[in-house]
Amino acid sequence: MERLESQRATVGEGFEIRRALPNRRRRMVGAWCFLDHAGPADYAAGRGLNVGPHPHIGLQTFSWMIEGSILHTDSLGYRQWIQPGQVNLMTAGQGISHAEESPADAPGRFQLAQLWIALPDAERHREPSFHHYPELPVLDRGGFRITVLAGRFAGERAPAAVYSALVGIDLAAAGPARTELALDPAFEHGAMTLEGEVTVGGEPLAAGALLYFGPGRERLDVETGSAARLLLIGGAPFGEEILLWWNFVARTYGEMEQATHDWLEGDRFGEVSGARAARLVAPDLKGLRLRDAR
Ligand code: MN
Repeated sequence: MERLESQRATVGEGFEIRRALPNRRRRMVGAWCFLDHAGPADYAAGRGLNVGPHPHIGLQTFSWMIEGSILHTDSLGYRQWIQPGQVNLMTAGQGISHAEESPADAPGRFQLAQLWIALPDAERHREPSFHHYPELPVLDRGGFRITVLAGRFAGERAPAAVYSALVGIDLAAAGPARTELALDPAFEHGAMTLEGEVTVGGEPLAAGALLYFGPGRERLDVETGSAARLLLIGGAPFGEEILLWWNFVARTYGEMEQATHDWLEGDRFGEVSGARAARLVAPDLKGLRLRDAR
């Protein structure tokens, strides 16, 4: 068991989030290689999330909307609002670009978990695709309302099309709650409190901290004394070394260089039409070269 702290970061035009993965001490949990938690927060009109067009390769972006809504637009021509209780899954494969924005003209409340799933080598060059899942399996256990976001849990199967053995569940409690979760012992797991405080495997876990559990665990007790929300992710240890830089997951520096070049030149990633914010500019690749050399 390992306790990891998330980092504060900003996305788009200064929207503050907590980033639990990648973490200095642990880069992945199964194929999950990125975990941002935004909100819960109220924002003024025009001050919500606004991330301009940007590219991805080698991963799936997995958006779990908890409060509020955002509009996804991408280079395949999809224009999809996502509402609380829904998932957007974008498979970048060899290359896609997208933008994400809150409704522009009204104040709002916002809470979102956005995760990335690294694609295994055999799948990472596939054609890009986008899926919206408006309904997910939900079950009630000991005061927790459990939504199965990805993979299988307690006999339920989430609809999201993924390419590795993995799981993701959201546990929300309106008051005191307690249950025991059955885990796949072949998986490693990470639990992150999104709101309130939850005791996970006997460890009190406040919002922002991520508790990592290695493979071999079959049961996990979760308990809260008051309203709280917990995200649990897991998966088979990924077994491939990945490079994660900016919005790209690849294997070599050369692939990063090529993707950056293609984005700059307007190749490979298509075009996103109608986004409010400007196209994002890739950071200097020197940062990756330095990190690699360490
Ligand atoms: Mn993105």
